[in-house]
Order: sequence, then structure tokens, then C-alpha cells
Amino acid sequence: MNTIDHILAKAVEGTRLTPDEGLALFACRDLHKLGRAAHAVTTRLHPEPYRTFNIDRNINYTNVCAAVCDFCAFYRKSADSDAYVLSREELYKKIEETIALGGDQVLMQGGMHPSLKLEWYEELLRDLKARFPTVNLHAFSPPEIWHFHKINKLPLETVLKRLKDAGLGSLPGGGGEILVDRVRKELTKGKALASEWLDVCRVWHTLGGKGTCTMMFGHIETEAERVEHLTRLRDLQDETGGFTAFICWTMQPGHKMADFPEMGAFEYLRTQAISRLYLDNIPNIQSSWVTQGGKIGQVALFFGANDMGSLMIEENVVASAGTVHYLTLEEIKRSIREAGWEPRQRNVFYQLIDEGSVPHSEPRPTGGSAQVPHTSLPVLN
Ligand code: SF4
Repeated sequence: MNTIDHILAKAVEGTRLTPDEGLALFACRDLHKLGRAAHAVTTRLHPEPYRTFNIDRNINYTNVCAAVCDFCAFYRKSADSDAYVLSREELYKKIEETIALGGDQVLMQGGMHPSLKLEWYEELLRDLKARFPTVNLHAFSPPEIWHFHKINKLPLETVLKRLKDAGLGSLPGGGGEILVDRVRKELTKGKALASEWLDVCRVWHTLGGKGTCTMMFGHIETEAERVEHLTRLRDLQDETGGFTAFICWTMQPGHKMADFPEMGAFEYLRTQAISRLYLDNIPNIQSSWVTQGGKIGQVALFFGANDMGSLMIEENVVASAGTVHYLTLEEIKRSIREAGWEPRQRNVFYQLIDEGSVPHSEPRPTGGSAQVPHTSLPVLN
């Protein structure tokens, strides 16, 4: 057995890979081999006859941000004419629409606003929770929480406990990019460094909270730094067990990084497969059709993903960088069904929340996704 086959066999049987073995997999260009092994691991972890999806809405409550990330075209400075903070009425409306479309959660992320105090966020969460008690508030990426901690001069634990008491339900894994300071210092200014991002998750998990973790790759990082990123997530998961899922995606070139060559499906599928093999303690991996499109998103179910991610009714950050993919709820379900599984709706904790089996006889839409009528669920990513 050659080295790669030996490493893959180890992962398939459930033996943890070392960082050197993870790096050796990144030297392997045999996509099929990596995919087959990742799929064997997924099948071992998820033998069930279904694959899951979620319905939520990404609400970017403000685009004002104290940080500067070279890949981000979304942020504005307070004085910019198109800077905004959404009003409560706008938020209510978006959440009402989400509920009407069968959603159980909103993902609220913003820029890191330089002057909104912690009380503003507490009041916001309390207000939304009082109005929409059944909606999970999946909100504030670790860099935002780190920012709240800095500008309010309060310990992280105090910040997170106060937000939890006010109604924060779970923590999205945004802003992870690559958890290596060399990369973060080069790409971002004024944003949490690697250990700070991890500390936010650690404290949140210690308080009993759950959340997701991410990796955005395909920019200035080396493959060794991807492995370092995955190792840090795996180590924290050993410590806390708080991550429900991992999502990786390729950087969308734009803004100051417009000249960067875009990484395509090969690199995405390869990296996701290696992540599945390496992250032996994170139970779920979400397909990134948001950045890769529906077809690759579907194929990703055979390269380590067991979940189609969210039907995101609105997304602005990736869209600002110029990437727009549309999938309707029906298309998400059909992607899963065509691949051989039953589509099931889940919440952020990966509990099934639908009524079970869905008939296989839904009519095919007559046009491509861009022609879907407005009454169906538009997804802007
Ligand atoms: S990615 Fe987030 S933190 Fe970075 S500039 Fe954009 S909004 Fe701010």
C-alpha cells in the first residue's frame, strides 16, 4: 500500500490523522481517491437514508465596519453615504418573511460597528426573542464578539453570557478565514487573530453554547496553513465539543483581491474531502453551493458533505464580492433526492424539524433557477 492509500485507509477506519498526514493528502491530486475515502467516512458517520438542509435568512444588520479585510467589498465606514444599520421594522419584516417561508432561524452578522454598545445588541436580541420566540438567533461571528469585548472593555465571558441571557441561540463560524496569524495579519486589519477567534468559541462552548466553524481558502495561505487551521479546529473540538458543523469555501476574488485567480471546483472538492478525513470529531459538513453553485454543491455530497447548508433567503457579503448563485428550496431538495437521499429539514443543532418523508413526485420547474418566479424562495448568495 502506498503512503496515500495507507493514510486514507486510516481515516476511513476512524484513526486520527497527524498534521503530516493531512499535509501529505494535500499533495495528492487524485480527486476520486480523496472523494471516495471522504465519502466512506461520511457514510460511516451518517448511514441514515437522508441528507439535510436548513431554512434561514442571513440578515446583515449593519455594513459599518471598523475592520478592513482585503477580500471584502461589503463593509462601509460610518460616514459613507450608503452605510446603514437596519431599523427594527426592517428586521421584523425580514424575520416575518423567513417564518412565512418555513424558516426557523436567522443568521445575523454585521460589520464590526465602531460605536454600538453591548446594550444595543442585548436590547435587539431581547426584542426579537420576545416577538419571535421560536426563531433561533444564530448571530454574531467570533470577530464581532471579540470586537464587542474590546469596545465595551468587558471580559469575553461577560459579553457572551449577557448575549446568551438576552436570547443569543448559537454562534456562526464566520470570519475564521484561515486561523493562522501570518495570513490574518496580511488579509485583515482590526479583526480578531487566530487565538482570539478560537477563544470566543471556547468561551461560548464552555457556557453550553453550540456553533459552526468555517474555512475560507484559496488566497494567500499555504497548504500547511490549511492543515494548521484544521488542526486548531479539531483541537478546540476535542476540548469543548461545541462545533456542530464545518463549512469550507473558496475565496471569491473581488475588491482589493480582484486579480486573484479564482479556485474552482477541483480545489474546493479536494479540500472539503481532506477536511472530512481530518476533522474526525466534527459531525457534520455543509456543502458550499453558495459559492460553488448548485451542481458542484450537489456533487459535494459525495466529497464529505452530509448537508446542503441553508436555503439562505438573503445574503449580502459574498454577493458584494460578485458571486451570485440561486437555488430554490425545491432545487435544494431535488439535489439531495437526485443524489439518492431523502431531503430532510434540520435546525442548527442538526435535529430534524420536518414531518419526515417527502413525496418524490414534485413537478420539475419549467425554467432555470434564474427564471424561478418570485413566489418561490429566492436565494441570493
Ligand atoms: S469581512 Fe467582515 S470584518 Fe472584514 S471588512 Fe468585511 S464586514 Fe468587516
